[in-house]
Amino acid sequence: MSKEFVDTIIYASIVVDPNNETTPARYKHAIIIDEGLLIDVLPYEETMQLYQAAEEIYLDHHAVMPGLINAHGHAAMSLLRGYADDYELDTWLNEHIWPAENAHVSASFVSLGTELAAAEMIKTGTTTFSDMYFFPEAAAEVVDRVGLRAQFATTIFDFPCAWGSGPDDYLEKTLRFTSTYANHPRVTVALGPHAPYTVNDENFAKVVAVAQEHELPIHVHLSETQKEVDDSIAQHGMSPVVRLHKLGAIKANSQLVHMTALSEEDMALVAESGASVIHCPKSNLKLASGLCPTQALLNHGVNVAIGTDGAASNNALDQFSELQYAAMIAKVQHSDPTAISALTSLKMATIGGARALGIDHIVGDFTKGKHADLCTVRIDAIELQPLHNIISQLVYTQSGQKVTDVWVKGHRLLNDTKLTTIDEDALAAKVAKFKTQMSTN
Ligand SMILES: [Zn+2]
Repeated sequence: MSKEFVDTIIYASIVVDPNNETTPARYKHAIIIDEGLLIDVLPYEETMQLYQAAEEIYLDHHAVMPGLINAHGHAAMSLLRGYADDYELDTWLNEHIWPAENAHVSASFVSLGTELAAAEMIKTGTTTFSDMYFFPEAAAEVVDRVGLRAQFATTIFDFPCAWGSGPDDYLEKTLRFTSTYANHPRVTVALGPHAPYTVNDENFAKVVAVAQEHELPIHVHLSETQKEVDDSIAQHGMSPVVRLHKLGAIKANSQLVHMTALSEEDMALVAESGASVIHCPKSNLKLASGLCPTQALLNHGVNVAIGTDGAASNNALDQFSELQYAAMIAKVQHSDPTAISALTSLKMATIGGARALGIDHIVGDFTKGKHADLCTVRIDAIELQPLHNIISQLVYTQSGQKVTDVWVKGHRLLNDTKLTTIDEDALAAKVAKFKTQMSTN
């Protein structure tokens, strides 16, 4: 019998697919990739009988799993990592982050910051990220060049910023950006009204109308703190979730970020709408924002994804660390060590993220025909021994630091811990130069 010729075969010690209900971990299996697509996952022997490849890769001390999906962040804010820590959210935003952004944000800031974020995300196993920031053309150019997959949620405020003069200008720029990237294989676009307290009813109505007309999802920071909820009740007579629901901003494709301080009514509305919640555990902890009731939301049937938020409030973009926190926080929060199991957390950071971003028909698990977006973790490191349970070790040890290889749509972006599309030394030099300029201005 003649063998089928394909581009790549990856022989791995363990193939982990959190969304595979019957066998999330398969030993001595190979992943067969052709033209960027996942053709099959088979035991070694069967693979050798059926396929031969231009490139055969043996990763016999590794677990291979779907690439992680970082469903919320502000990539370029990596340049503000460690710039203002240990402040309250209001003080942090109004007195530190927004003034720094007003002084420094430009297309070149976004380009450099996005490349810095991309380098960190690739090295820690992320293959898709959602980015809510300014100058999306500059960020998308980086994504196109380095090979990651991304959703760009363009920021919309009531007020002007370096990127534009106000909501009408932001919406017009978003539509121009959307048409430029309409056919890009790795880029999608969403509308990103910043938050209920920075976008008034009239401007939310404009966002909802554009979202409907152009079939764009809405990605919004929502119910981030108890204070936001209290202020909303004082000003509008209802919680921010109820208000956005009334304004038509909470739909099946909406992406609701943070979601702490939720009432039963809020959770029921979100469940009924089919919207996804994006949990940012480390950012919520660091800014003492509150805790997202992830297990309760899952029990309501809500899809929950995980995001790092920006590096300025984290301060890392290591999604393995984030999903570890997601599992651990849920246990204390619900006083229940069975809340958010290791497997559930891995699902939230893979297929959950794909569902939230509306790309679960393309990525998120190892279903045949999906794009080959995957990462590998070295499992022979002493810190992972003994390997009783690979799912547990991936979640509860520092496995983001053990990522060795990353593929997006069949392209290898990380080869044995080395970035293939980013010159790390040159990037570090440019970031150091930016830091010096920022300190001397
Ligand atoms: Zn955010």
